[in-house]
Amino acid sequence: MWTITRAGLQAPAAQALPSECPHCHAHAQLTPVSVPDFASLQRDAPQRVGIVFRCNACGVPRFFRFTVRRQESERIVLAGNGQELERAPERYAFGYLPANVARLFREALACHASDCFNAFASMCRRSAQAVFEDLGEGGRLRMFDTLEDIIELCELDGDTAHLLRAVIFGGTGDRDASLPDVDASHAGVLLEAMKDLLYQTYVRREKLTRAMRMRRFFAAQSGRRLAVVSARDEALDATDGEAGPQADSA
Ligand SMILES: [Zn+2]
Repeated sequence: MWTITRAGLQAPAAQALPSECPHCHAHAQLTPVSVPDFASLQRDAPQRVGIVFRCNACGVPRFFRFTVRRQESERIVLAGNGQELERAPERYAFGYLPANVARLFREALACHASDCFNAFASMCRRSAQAVFEDLGEGGRLRMFDTLEDIIELCELDGDTAHLLRAVIFGGTGDRDASLPDVDASHAGVLLEAMKDLLYQTYVRREKLTRAMRMRRFFAAQSGRRLAVVSARDEALDATDGEAGPQADSA
């Protein structure tokens, strides 16, 4: 168990906090950097306390809230498990998305990381609207087909499929249909569906295009090198031909 004494924070024998850092994804030790003062805890007797740790791998602060189990004269005993308050948003290849889509989808992921699932759904709809504005009607129809593929591939039930269509495509047309209520489980499915839709729509195409451009560049470079080498060989052959008779005549 965690205890706070006049000497500071005493950690339990076993690591009781999630070791994977949500920022750098390393399994690193945590160093306490901000612990409430023992005297003020004794005076105020709070039910919960906040402690800030530093990830030893990336140095980013991680914020935890602990429930106070009991207060003794020489120590404050905390619950074994602290609740991490700030979770890093899901990572995504934002660099492959148009700026406006990236900006909105980044906010959507921040809402999801904060467990604000209805706000997340609203931002998913706005992200989708930005995609439709970028790609036009043809792009919207392609994206609808991609969503149907996802629904079929993952064998999603009718209610979930209906919710995905309503959130992502309900905001198009003359009338902005109201958003359905989204819970944690639906939000998880919506998150994966949106990531894949944006991947299929932008990331895949952009990655392929960049890879092909690189292949062409290197092919052209090696073609140019071959041309230079064969031109030099031809020039050397010609020089040998000229040098031959001169050497003989000398
Ligand atoms: Zn870290």
